[in-house]
Order: sequence, then structure tokens, then C-alpha cells
Amino acid sequence: MQLYNSLSRTKEEFVPHEAGKVSMYTCGPTVYHFAHIGNLRTYIMEDILDRYLRYSGYEVTRVMNITDVGHLTSDADTGEDKMLKGAKREKKTVMEIAKFYTDCFFVDCKALNIRRPEVVEPATSCIDEFIRVIESLMEKGYAYEAGGNIYFDTSKLKQYYMFHNFEEEDLAVGVREGVEADGNKRNKADFVLWFTKSKFDDQELKWNSPWGVGYPGWHIECSCISMKHLGGHLDIHCGGIDNAFPHHTNEIAQSEAYLGHKWCNYWFHVLHLNTNSGKMSKSKGEFLTVSLLTEKGYDPMVYRFFCLQSHYRKSLVFSWENMENAKVAYQKLIARIAALKEDGEIDRAVFDAQKENFVKALDNDLNTSLAVTALYDVLKAKTNDATKLALLRDFDTVLCLNLLENAAKQNTESSAEAEKPVSDDPFIREIEAMIEARKEAKKAKNYAEADRIRAVLSEKGVTLIDTKDGTTYRIEGQA
Ligand code: AMP
Ligand code: ZN
Repeated sequence: MQLYNSLSRTKEEFVPHEAGKVSMYTCGPTVYHFAHIGNLRTYIMEDILDRYLRYSGYEVTRVMNITDVGHLTSDADTGEDKMLKGAKREKKTVMEIAKFYTDCFFVDCKALNIRRPEVVEPATSCIDEFIRVIESLMEKGYAYEAGGNIYFDTSKLKQYYMFHNFEEEDLAVGVREGVEADGNKRNKADFVLWFTKSKFDDQELKWNSPWGVGYPGWHIECSCISMKHLGGHLDIHCGGIDNAFPHHTNEIAQSEAYLGHKWCNYWFHVLHLNTNSGKMSKSKGEFLTVSLLTEKGYDPMVYRFFCLQSHYRKSLVFSWENMENAKVAYQKLIARIAALKEDGEIDRAVFDAQKENFVKALDNDLNTSLAVTALYDVLKAKTNDATKLALLRDFDTVLCLNLLENAAKQNTESSAEAEKPVSDDPFIREIEAMIEARKEAKKAKNYAEADRIRAVLSEKGVTLIDTKDGTTYRIEGQA
């Protein structure tokens, strides 16, 4: 498989450290709020990589951290701990919101068919590990104490900036919002390993350390959690592109200083999901979540399909119009699959040729949009339905778009629909006809008409409820 490596800035043949086995580390969420669908784009694309490696025969072990301490509002060690900020916002404890948003994150992942990694480890459960590694970095001369904090000394490295060129990175630090010069740092790029002297006295979670009561920096957690479970040689490290600097750059610095050798061979970075007005952010207050998509009538599979239609190394723009297009395309795809019937033996020659097409797409730096095209090629292929169904079932073990499940569901629903008795009540018949008209209006993107129908029904005491399975209603005064 050819995989783009941010470290070499080229596509490389993927060769794991140990034949047949892959160790994979993923930066997990900072659990101070819901994940937005931008965060989830990154996790969807990492999921495809994980599943494709398994499909290709590798034994994959995947580890993810949960950031529940140390990630400050600016990635460059300034500002307040995001967790504390979230806890204050909700008038809860840090641990309460960590539990709540960790659970929400995995509910969203499940809805999007994102596999849960073998190991999921919260940062707060590894404090001893962090202290041990920081102590070793101190002994080796890579870390120093200043003003109560422990800093990593970047001047001790032959090369610090691993992903981009120096000027670019320096500029990035300079323009980051809320960055203030930290007089304790010996070098501008040095970063905090352990905080004891925070300008926020109310940091809720603190631990004893050889340097006083305090808490870990964000970067050290990923190095330590990865090394704890996956050892000193990591095959693939994943994350969103914003993590390349300073987070991943710092992870490399401290892990390699600690280990004394190269740590991770492949860096997989997913580009951002943006809106027309720019970057998506959790801290801006209102943001797009999986629940919002569902509320608006979009099956989470439509979002997964939308993400797979573009390459992970291109930024992607979200708009409701794009979502609507993805929904229509997904529904058409499902309808075509629903029309297929199990009709005999699988044609092996066709199966192998089509599969080769699919593998070729994903072997080429995980080209998911070509892998989606391979689905349409199967539907167009000159072969029987049984072969097509077998291929779609096989491809969907990687794409995980619930293709066959949703096609079967559609078949069951349409036969139930055909058998549904027409109501004797003229009011119910009127409501159902108006719901149907509203559905048609939405399909034609005539949202004004759809809203008008909703308003007319509302005046008659009928409230419409949109779900991912269609529209239902409630009549005022009835249970
Ligand atoms: P966080 O919860 O902020 O630590 O971020 C979780 C993951 O989402 C990280 O891998 C980030 O790099 C990634 N991420 C953040 N914003 C976006 C975005 N707009 N699009 C895609 N990925 C993102
Ligand atoms: Zn990380």
C-alpha cells in the first residue's frame, strides 16, 4: 500500500516494523464538549485506514488517548485548561464532564460506524507514567525546571521542526491567538512537560510530582500512552492536520529524546472540514454535531458517505446543500442495491476483477472517492446480482456504509408501505398527503414550500417530527 507520510512529504510504500502487524496511535478527543463533525471527519478517515489495513490482512493494534487534562486553550502552552473551562461552563466537575463527553463521543462513533480502538486510555489514568518519562528526560538533559514548570529543551535536538520548514512554524506560533511570551522558556519553541506554576490557581486536578503539585502538559500524554501500549516503535500515528504542529512535533521531540532512536515511521494527517465561513471549532459555542444532523433528518451514514467521497488530504467544505446532495446520492445507491436479488452462483472472475479495482483505489494513499466509484462500477458490471451483492458486502467491510442493511430495510419498509391500510379518517388522510407533498418539496429543494406545509399543519394542531427514518406527527390533545 502507498501511504502519504507527512514526515517525508511523499507517498511511500507502507512497511510495518514487524511483518504482518501494525501498531497505530490516534490522538483522541479533548472531552470538554461534544465532538463536532469536523473532528469526526478525522476519525472516519482514520477508521477507514484501520479497517483497510485489517482487510489487507494485517493484525492491527490501535490505541487512543482521551484528553481529560493539560490541553490548554492555546496549543502553545498558554491559556486555561480546556477541561476546566468546560466544567465551569456547565457548573460540574472536570471528571463529570470528562465522563459525559467521552460517552457522547463513543455514541457518535457508533452512529458513524467508527470502530472503538483496542485501547482507550484517559490521560488522568497515566500520571505515574508521565512523571517517569519526564524524570528520564531531566536525567538525560533534555528537560529543565524554570519558574516552577518543567520544560523540554528543543535546542538539544538536531532537528526540531519535523513537518514543515522553520519560518513557517515560527510564524504559526506568532499568530496563534492568546499566545504570550513565557519568560521561563530558554528557547522560543520549548514546551511544558509538567505545570506547577499555572496562572490559574483553580486548576481542579493536580497530582504530586518530584517538582511539586501540578499537572501534565498535553503533548507528553500521547507519547507516554502510545509507548505504554505499543512500545518504542510505532508504525502509524494519526491526527487532524492542526495537530502536526506543535502537538505532534513535540511528541516526536520528547519520544525520540527518551527512546534514543526513531519512534514513529508514518504520520497520517487528515485535512480539515470547514464551513463556508471558515474553520469549525468547539470553542465557538455553536457547532455541528451528529445529533444535529440526525435532527435535520440525515442518517449519520450520509455524513460518512459525504466524507468518503473526497480524499483525506484535501480540505472539505460542509454546507447543508452538500449534505442534501450526499443524501440523495446515498439514497439512490441504496435503492439500486435494494433492487438486487440473490440469484445464484458468484462469478469468481468478475468478483476478483472488481475487487482488484477496489483494492487499487485504497492502495493508492487511501483513495476513498475512487473506492466509492468502485461501488458504482459493481452495480454497472455485466454479471448476476449474486456477484454484485457479494462484492458490495465485501467492500462494505471497509467502507462501513450499512449498504446491505439499509437496502434490506428499504425493501421491508416498501412492502410494509404497500400493505399499509388507507385510513378511514379524512383528517389523517389529509395529514399524510401533506407530509408526502412536503417530502416532494424538500426533494426539489423548495424549502419555502416545505416550511409553508409545516406551518399549515401546525395551525391545524399537527406537529411534524423529522427523524432519519422519515417524518411522523403528533396531533394536539392526542397521546
Ligand atoms: P480535539 O478534540 O480538539 O483534541 O480534536 C480531536 C481531533 O479532531 C484531532 O485529531 C484534531 O486534529 C481534529 N480536528 C479538529 N478540528 C478539525 C476539523 N475542522 N476538521 C477535521 N479534523 C479536525
Ligand atoms: Zn495527541
